Amino acid sequence: MISEKMRPLVENNSVIRVMFEEGKRLASIYGAENVYDFSLGNPSVPAPEQVNQAILDTLAQEDSMFVHGYMSNSGYEDVRAAIAESLNKRFGTGFHQGNILMTVGAASGLNVILKTLLNPEDEVIVFAPYFLEYKNYVRNYDGRLLEVAPNTADFQPDLEEFEKKITARTKAVIINTPNNPTGVVYSAKTLTAMADVLRKKQQEFGVQIALISDEPYRELAYDGVEVPFVTKFYDNTVVCYSYSKSLSLPGERIGYLVIPDAFADSQEVFSAASIANRVLGSVNAPSLMQRVIKRCVEQDVTVDLEAYDRNRNRLYQGLTDLGFSCIRPQGAFYLFVKSPVADEKAFCAQAQKYNLLLVPGSSFACPGYVRIAYCVSYEQIVRSMPAFKKLAADYGLTADCGPDEARKG
Ligand code: PLP
Repeated sequence: MISEKMRPLVENNSVIRVMFEEGKRLASIYGAENVYDFSLGNPSVPAPEQVNQAILDTLAQEDSMFVHGYMSNSGYEDVRAAIAESLNKRFGTGFHQGNILMTVGAASGLNVILKTLLNPEDEVIVFAPYFLEYKNYVRNYDGRLLEVAPNTADFQPDLEEFEKKITARTKAVIINTPNNPTGVVYSAKTLTAMADVLRKKQQEFGVQIALISDEPYRELAYDGVEVPFVTKFYDNTVVCYSYSKSLSLPGERIGYLVIPDAFADSQEVFSAASIANRVLGSVNAPSLMQRVIKRCVEQDVTVDLEAYDRNRNRLYQGLTDLGFSCIRPQGAFYLFVKSPVADEKAFCAQAQKYNLLLVPGSSFACPGYVRIAYCVSYEQIVRSMPAFKKLAADYGLTADCGPDEARKG
């Protein structure tokens, strides 16, 4: 019964999800404390107490018919105004409620904007390594996804190859910073150069090219690193934001799009995106969560980053001491480690012998690397170190023979 378009999706069902199931199976055999599941990007820090309080206050103080009712497909006006104001305060932008469209998380936001913009065969460029769902989302609207190969020196995008990949059919470019799976934050220098390339190519081909900035990890940045605000670099930018990680609410499905006034045909795009929200079946973002987000935004609430930062430091130090090689991540909650052998799937299989669940880089179009999600308990990281030590020994790694890259940071 299933459609031809669905068939490959079923056959290539997410490796990460499969690993998550494997983790549960291993835990039932060996006990949860002896399984080191680093596969899923599910936040380990609880939602801030203010979120729970905001839910209670909303239910106690706001009219129930209003809280649970339908509203405009783009969301409650006052919620959107509060988000615009918060962005303006933090990033010096000039947004208003007419630029903010509430979505069912980043996944939905990406689908809304791709449905709004893509004609069949339009090209969308992404930079490997990237969140592999982009491929499925682009395919939903019969677009063509083009990959720029990874720049493994520092995982900033390779802009020379990018420039060569742009054609008259390029409709959009998706970036993700802080990045899943590398933890790298794209620098202002990178974004300036990327915007220059885009403007040049827009002029050359006489087209408009959208830059879609997927930002579920915006607030998860460490060591005081600045995450540049992308709309400041390039007019045709759409920001796709989510509270899944910044408030640890992935199951609640809430986020927003920013479609700035400077975006080409901004009002038409905004209206079309509101309709896309409706016809994709979401209709509008969850109403209770919109009300809750307004209260949280007004108080500048975000998750406590200390636990992630502690995990990051412990894992990075532990693994590089063992001779593994990786870039020190500046954001998100992932470590992207070079596999000691080219076949990183074989390396993941070897890791699994010690109950270590790691995700192969080919799941992000970057073979030869593995992703370790450190949104786990600190205790899991400490307990996993002997298993990593055995794994390092299997490949003859020692602290002294780790490649130079391991010392970067
Ligand atoms: N984009 C990236 C890069 C992600 O890592 C994720 C989730 O892990 C998403 C989008 C989807 O996030 P959401 O839960 O907001 O749909």
